[in-house]
Parts: sequence; structure tokens; C-alpha cells
Amino acid sequence: MVWTNSKDSALRERAQAVIPNGMYGHQSVMLLPDDYPQFFDRAQGAYLWDMDGNRYVDFLCGYGPNLFGYAHAGIDQAYFDRAKLGDTMTGPGEAMVLLAEAMTAQVSHADWAMFCKNGTDATTMAMMIARNHTKKNTIVLAKGAYHGAAPWCTPVKNGVAPSDRANQVFYEYNDVESLEAAVKAAGSDLAAIFASPIKHDTFIDQELPNPEYARRARELCDEHGALLIVDDVRAGFRLARDCSWSLVDVKPDLSTWGKAVANGHPISALLGSDVCRFAAATIYATGSYWFSAAPMAAALETLKLIAQTDYLERTIALGERLRSGLDEAAGRHGFALRQTGPAQLPLIMFDDDPTSAKGYLWNNALLKRGVYFHPWHNMFICAAMTEADIDDTLNAADDAFKVVKDAGPLEPVAKIAFLHQMVDGH
Ligand code: PMP
Repeated sequence: MVWTNSKDSALRERAQAVIPNGMYGHQSVMLLPDDYPQFFDRAQGAYLWDMDGNRYVDFLCGYGPNLFGYAHAGIDQAYFDRAKLGDTMTGPGEAMVLLAEAMTAQVSHADWAMFCKNGTDATTMAMMIARNHTKKNTIVLAKGAYHGAAPWCTPVKNGVAPSDRANQVFYEYNDVESLEAAVKAAGSDLAAIFASPIKHDTFIDQELPNPEYARRARELCDEHGALLIVDDVRAGFRLARDCSWSLVDVKPDLSTWGKAVANGHPISALLGSDVCRFAAATIYATGSYWFSAAPMAAALETLKLIAQTDYLERTIALGERLRSGLDEAAGRHGFALRQTGPAQLPLIMFDDDPTSAKGYLWNNALLKRGVYFHPWHNMFICAAMTEADIDDTLNAADDAFKVVKDAGPLEPVAKIAFLHQMVDGH
């Protein structure tokens, strides 16, 4: 099928009239390579179809929620069965207790669970609980880490008052000295240290957590009576069947979850240990949709698959197949890639591509060949992908490298310069 985008273009034009900028947030394609479709028609398994009927092997997985495949029969059945009986009601259903039992059984540091809708709800509640627990205000965060889109953490500061960002001190991820200096700067006011499970910032190489850094974060919290918060919204259950920092043997007091926990149905979670149960019980936190039963039923089914299937090993093996195949293909065409992070959460950029020009052209060429990649955000492997999907992707990548090679010298990507102006580096 010849790739066209006339339906998407028409919809985008209509969107410009009734939606600010036609779309907002990280799912706006404004900053992606040319021709990326803004709107999608459907999704099944590992695939996504845009409005013009083009099919893509989707390596964004909805920016994380798709773990077991879009429209997963068992998970969606649980959702629909529960929705027919009652979803958003005057209070929660039994599913809330079942899910809290299942989450605390699955995640070893957790003694209790609270549910909400977005990752930002969970990270915001974590911050409030830490402040309530310690009766202190300062939070220590890694520079450039994403924790959501509320005024205290959104990466773009338009519309944010300086007071929204008060009581924050930043450190360099994985750097013990920098963490210690940030804690020192917090003085006697330290409420919490926030950590992403891995460094999964945009535009820069990903890093696994250095165990010494993770252990030091735990010790510093213990020394100061502060809480350690691991933000597992993006990586949760993609690195481990437990909190991601179980891999470095460090238990946080609080962990935040979202995205994959219900395979795309809207629910997020905050898990905590007994030490801060009282503080959790005495903040005010709620939302009209937070207790809807159907996403909880979907989450219960997802957790069963997490506990009982080899999804994790599968996604790692598929990610490794992709990684080694791409390195080989790049080498054949005289390119080198920077592939960082865990194989199942790959970030793929060109070496020697300071303006992202090669990356943008390569991603555009992949798109036209039925592969949805991202040039500067980590991607996701889902368990519905097959070896054949990876091999098709490698074939497309081979052609796409040719496109980049044949293009010769490239102009810098103007969109990227614009983005860097918008985003404040703290
Ligand atoms: N924390 C992390 C690590 C995330 O990746 C995200 C979402 N990208 C969030 C928090 C915020 O989640 P949400 O968009 O659901 O509010």
C-alpha cells in the first residue's frame, strides 16, 4: 500500500480550529519528524493504524501503557464485564480491595496501595505524603527527570509560578557526590528524595542506576528521616515483576505506578510501606474517576499476566534482537548508533548527530515503511511483538539507513532548537 496522509492532514486542520495548537503535550507530533500522523484509527496487538489506514509496528506502545498488546482479549474482557455491572459509582467496588491486595503482594516494599488516574496524581501524592510524614518541605530530585505535568514538575514553565517550584533541590542522577550536596543544601528541611528507576530522560543516553547511588539515596533518607520515592510510572513491571529498584536491592518507602499496570486502561497507583501509612491516611486526595471499577478489573487481569507469564523475558529477548540487528545494519551503512537503556526500553539515536538531522530523516523513512519509532524519547517493547515484527523492523531500518546515506549533508532540525528553548533545564 502506498503511504498517504490526506485524512490525517484534514483532521489536523480541523483540530487547529477547535483545539489549542491542534494538540498539546508529549503526544503532539509537532516536534516529531515530518509526516508523523497525529491521529490514529485503531490498535491491535503490536500494531497501530492511522486515519489513512497505514499500519505501523508501534514501538511507542502508547508511551508505555501497552505491555501485553493493544486490545488484549483477556484484559479487555475483564474491563467490559466489570463496566457492564457498574464502573464509576458512588464509591469503589470490591475490585479496589482485590487490586490493593494484588499490588502489595506483587511489589515487595509495599504494605498499602492508593489508586488514582495519572502518573502525575501518584507522584504529587507521594510528595504530599513525604511532606506530611516529615512535616518538612524540601524535595530532592534528579535534574532533567520527568515526574509529570503538574505545576511543581512540568518541564515547560509557562503558566507556572516560582512559588510552585519552591523547596526543590536538584542532583545529577547516578552521582553520589551531587546527591549528597543536594541533601546538604536541603539542610534540616529534607522531606524526600525522588529517583527515577533508570535515567530515562529525553535526548540523552539512558543510564541504569548505579547501585552505590541507589544505596546512598536510601541511607541519606534514613539518616534524615526522609522518604525515598521511586517513580516507576514509566518503567514499572518492564524491568522487574517488582519495583524496579529491586534489581539494585534497594527498597523505597513510596513507589509510583501508572501506564502498564492495566495495559492502557486508565488507572495509576501509589504504593507505600507501613512507615508512612499514617501520613498517607491523613492527606486529602481524591478524584471523580479514581475509584472506577472497570480499570481496576483490567489491572487485576494484567497483574495475573505479570505474575504468570514470561512476558518480561520475551520483551528482553525481542529488545536484544532489535538492538543487535540495528547495530549490524547501521555498521553495514557506515553509521554507528547510540542504543542505551535496557533492551526492552530502548532509546536509539545516531552517534555524531548533534542536530538530530540523521535521526529525524531515519525515523521518517521508518515511518513510511510501517515502523513507528521516536528520535529522542525511549521506546517500549510489548509482549505482543513477534520475532517476525522485529525482523520486519530490521529490514525497514536497513532501507532507512540507505535513505540517510543517500541524502548526504543534512540541515539541522529547527524543531529541536525550538523545543530546547521551551524546556527549562531547572
Ligand atoms: N513519571 C514518569 C517517569 C513518567 O514517565 C510519566 C509519564 N510519561 C509520569 C510520571 C506522569 O504520568 P502521567 O502522564 O500519566 O501523568
